[in-house]
Amino acid sequence: MHELSIATELFAACERNLPPGAALRSARIAIGELSSVEPELLQFAFEAVVHGTVHAGARLVIDRCPAVQRCGQCGTIAERQPGTWLRQCPRCQSQLQIEGGDELDLLELDVDEAPRTDTTERHP
Ligand SMILES: [Zn+2]
Repeated sequence: MHELSIATELFAACERNLPPGAALRSARIAIGELSSVEPELLQFAFEAVVHGTVHAGARLVIDRCPAVQRCGQCGTIAERQPGTWLRQCPRCQSQLQIEGGDELDLLELDVDEAPRTDTTERHP
């Protein structure tokens, strides 16, 4: 299961960013619509990964990032329905380019009882 290895990697990234002694409540990530990740499967896998750790119950909050179709000729950003693609620029009929949509980023962590320190980076 592809999502399980991603969830494991995400959790490792969360742990690296957690203050010492803090428990993870939720992690917000961005997933591009072109990345071959099934959000529900990934949430399920993440719950399985944190199960049995001090972070048990931590949730994954997923932001979907749509890809953008932009015209290389006139700069129009073509509007489209989710899941559908346009072949040509609606204004000048040029070929459209696709931007973004392949994100898989850890955005922010919501932690419980994080000790307040002035150091931003810690490597226990
Ligand atoms: Zn155009």
